[in-house]
Amino acid sequence: MSKRLYIETIGCQMNVLDSELVVARLLEAGYQLVDHPRRADTILLNTCSVRQHAEDKVYSALGRLKHVKEHHPEKIIGVLGCMAQKDRELIFRRAPHVDLVVGPGQLAQLPALLERVAAGEGPQVEVSLDRKAGHRQVVEESFAPYDPARSVEARHGRHQAMVRIMFGCDKFCTFCIVPSVRGPEQSRPPAQIEAEVRQLADQGCLEVTLIGQTVNSYRGIDAGRTVRLSDLLERLHGIDGIRRIKFVTNYPRHMTPDLLQAARDLPKVSPYFHVPAQSGSNAVLRRMKRGYTAEEYRQMLARIREAVPQGAVTSDFIVGFCGETEEDFQKTVALVRESRFKNSFIFKYSPRPGTKSAVLYADDVPEEVKRRRNNELLAVQNAISAEENRPYLGRTVEILVEGPSKASRRRAEEGEVVQLTGRTVCDRIVVFEGPRALVGRIIPVSVIQTDAFTLFGKV
Ligand code: SF4
Repeated sequence: MSKRLYIETIGCQMNVLDSELVVARLLEAGYQLVDHPRRADTILLNTCSVRQHAEDKVYSALGRLKHVKEHHPEKIIGVLGCMAQKDRELIFRRAPHVDLVVGPGQLAQLPALLERVAAGEGPQVEVSLDRKAGHRQVVEESFAPYDPARSVEARHGRHQAMVRIMFGCDKFCTFCIVPSVRGPEQSRPPAQIEAEVRQLADQGCLEVTLIGQTVNSYRGIDAGRTVRLSDLLERLHGIDGIRRIKFVTNYPRHMTPDLLQAARDLPKVSPYFHVPAQSGSNAVLRRMKRGYTAEEYRQMLARIREAVPQGAVTSDFIVGFCGETEEDFQKTVALVRESRFKNSFIFKYSPRPGTKSAVLYADDVPEEVKRRRNNELLAVQNAISAEENRPYLGRTVEILVEGPSKASRRRAEEGEVVQLTGRTVCDRIVVFEGPRALVGRIIPVSVIQTDAFTLFGKV
């Protein structure tokens, strides 16, 4: 079996990390990574179910691959990730040329499944149990943790890495498919996380981002003792070589004083908090089953600002959720105006099959109203982002240089000096001209211009 692998990743950081781990495992099994499906013998799509648009993208990619499979029946086409868990048979019905469907809780099986397909054993499916299929522990076990050893070759950069500290989610927000496709909330043992971060540090990694759907709900167990995120941050803080530690995504109700204290007192911990609010209206928050009111969110924000005044807070919002009136929407606008987020990710609501909101409530906000609210909220946020960035003008900031900027890659810039991009400790993007040799270094840069999204700097 020839082993040239192409993988395309759609969706969130969880998927990006899963793809990295899949690549690491398959490189170990003798595969070679290629950058175009045409050159590959095994083509994997790691999929997302959070929005319809993401699913449409996968089906159109599978449509294109149908012709590839017709001409090269020996090529293996696999669908991994959340859509695999959610849609299984539907994927085979809509794309019968698919050889392999593997849910996010079954990725450890992938090398064996690929071998079975190659050996002519026909299409393979491996998914976890449905959330209601049995006792919690049985369902949990079916979402097997997937954490093979980290490999520099599988990562986009040597100097930064994501580290999963939790799997799944138990919050069941009514609009969200994640608890069904990623399974019950499970925290990884702290010793395992610590060993992984040490391994990354030995590989030259300077910055780790701890990820979980609700990362601040982390509850690891060590020698019978509960380890909270704040305790874990303290343990990781002691690892030589690691210079920055970030954590995403936070759940508003779990932004506890011990965590804020850790962010304030541990110099390696980024004072950056991504805490999605989703709406500023209590009626909408109740229908979303978010578990807090707008007032409680404001109080949480005040606690962050008080404990970590130099910190940056970002948020997510859904506009046009079921039953959202103009008055509800204006409450969201008011929350954004007051909160002075560094930036916000704003989405138009679209019902997802398999979620509570798709069953319980009518998707009754017209598309053009959703669009208008999306644009209005974005304009308010962008004006605030620009104002929040402006005071950086003339200051010197410390950044971790990540690599050539998107524009530089698009222009295929050659030569030693290119446009580079880096991030401040509070996750602000800085773009500047500099030698490639700076990649992976933490350096001071003077800010000479700002806009809503970027600081422009000079070394
Ligand atoms: S907290 Fe809510 S929105 Fe976030 S992953 Fe869990 S269910 Fe989805």
